[in-house]
Amino acid sequence: MRGHRQVFPSLFFSLLFLMLPMKEISTSPLSVRAQPAMVSGGHHSGHTCLGCVLVVSVIEQLAMFHNSTAKEALERLCNYLPEILNLQGLCYLVVEMFGPDIIKLLKDKVNADVVCHAIKLCNQNAGQPFCHLYPPPEMGLNKAVREASRIVKNSKVLKNIAGFTSICAFPPLVKLCEKIKYIIKNKLPYEDLDGDKFSAFPTLRGYHWRGRDCNEGTTTVYPGRRPDNWDVERDSNCNGIWGVDPKDGIPYEKKFCEDAESKGIILLGDSAGAHFHIPPEWMTAAQMSLKSFSNLPVALTNEFDWPHFSGITGFLNSTIGGWTDSLYLRLHRRNRCNHRDFQNISKNGGSSENLLDLIKSLARNQLLDNPAIVIYASIGNDVCNGKPDTVAHMTTPQQMHSNVIKTLQYLNSQLPKGSHVILTGLADGRFLWDQLHSRYHPLGQLNKDVTYEQVYSFLSCLQISPCNGWMSSNQTLRNLTSERALQLSNVLKEITTSETFANFDLFYMDFPLEKIADEWHKLGGESWQLIEPVDGFHPNQISAALGASVIWQKVLREWPHVLGKENPFNKQIEDVFKDQGGH
Ligand code: CA
Repeated sequence: MRGHRQVFPSLFFSLLFLMLPMKEISTSPLSVRAQPAMVSGGHHSGHTCLGCVLVVSVIEQLAMFHNSTAKEALERLCNYLPEILNLQGLCYLVVEMFGPDIIKLLKDKVNADVVCHAIKLCNQNAGQPFCHLYPPPEMGLNKAVREASRIVKNSKVLKNIAGFTSICAFPPLVKLCEKIKYIIKNKLPYEDLDGDKFSAFPTLRGYHWRGRDCNEGTTTVYPGRRPDNWDVERDSNCNGIWGVDPKDGIPYEKKFCEDAESKGIILLGDSAGAHFHIPPEWMTAAQMSLKSFSNLPVALTNEFDWPHFSGITGFLNSTIGGWTDSLYLRLHRRNRCNHRDFQNISKNGGSSENLLDLIKSLARNQLLDNPAIVIYASIGNDVCNGKPDTVAHMTTPQQMHSNVIKTLQYLNSQLPKGSHVILTGLADGRFLWDQLHSRYHPLGQLNKDVTYEQVYSFLSCLQISPCNGWMSSNQTLRNLTSERALQLSNVLKEITTSETFANFDLFYMDFPLEKIADEWHKLGGESWQLIEPVDGFHPNQISAALGASVIWQKVLREWPHVLGKENPFNKQIEDVFKDQGGH
């Protein structure tokens, strides 16, 4: 499902910025509501603790797997990191600070929970339970931590921590921190030099997120617009079609696209829509290699989302398992005039409330552009949060109604006439517990000691769970969460029967989790293989691709006019314009 604050990215942020306050790099508005204690004067957030436990676990397992010392494992891990963005240098910096203590403790076979409490990156807050990922050592956690603390007493690390309020104060990190904070803080997508919202740069909310700009520096040229003077002179809508057919003097745009009912696809969504993914190779010692982290720079600059492989707007072949299929690719195949006309306006943590803000980054000109199909898919954050009293912080049906109506009114003020809006219901997240709780997490595979149940409970304890309601061993709570999700889906459904808008027609569909699972079973797969292995929470690449096919079939069957007709000139477009300038 969606996703909430970026929990797992903290593995890497924590590796590199072990002391950076995670609230600064967490993109989710939810994390503002569910704010754990932050780094300052020795208090560390749940994210820092999680990051520490993950990194120390990886070091421990690397040492075990390669039968090496902890010191060699640390160096090995740094060597795996790409040199770009100076990631390796930063890693060595962190090693210099924390390495000696971690090495000392790991030599004594102290587990990651105990190490992180001993070096004070995990703290037990007053009145809170002792949070741990691994089964507690025989002597008990309190005693183990006391003993470990004696070993690292007076260490350089603890003094270092006391000396800085944030690792971003380190001179070599200032610029990188600023850059990351800028990306995270600005809810509006990256705007390129010409001031429009389309870009010829892939990440930083560039063309991985919306169709590539084919003429940067000109605000009148962008994907999705109706062609200017039939694109006789230039490709004003970046669909790769322009010029005049020398045989008859007719502009190609007029000949191939005039009656094609061209339209774009726009997603308003959350981390599921943006396609949140943490590669399991990043934390599986047995699979870790130089290649494992080659995609880290892209992930860092795409907010750990992979919209270019996603089920609604994906367009590149997946490099993260499974395959790519998307509504955009299908709409493009149906009518090649739609080339590059997609926008993924999603954000980790997207809910009915904060989509109201995010939607302002929509780029659609009511007068100049083609109509669009908007998929509204906030599939979980309205019932998911990390609060101990999670139910009290869920969106109510009344709030949902008000938020969605406001969003639709805004869409009506922006979308060209003839557009379509499809509201998607919330997923039933009970699937997660049912499929995963007794399975081993990637971190637990080497020693068979960490199940998803343990991961869920660790995250809840740290108050950084993306979804306390569903990622819980409490069945009553899981059922309550699903009940509220169903109520909110019903609000969406009801809106589609009671409201009408001048510029678009409106539809509702349930989140097709069951159908996706059915399709996967038909291919011989098992249900648990549809969930992101690292976070145990999001739909993965296979779910995304199968979801695209399920949604497409449904729309084609029930509301075919939404998709427009098949363009009879597709073959000719391909013959004349080949790959239409690529994506
Ligand atoms: Ca064109």
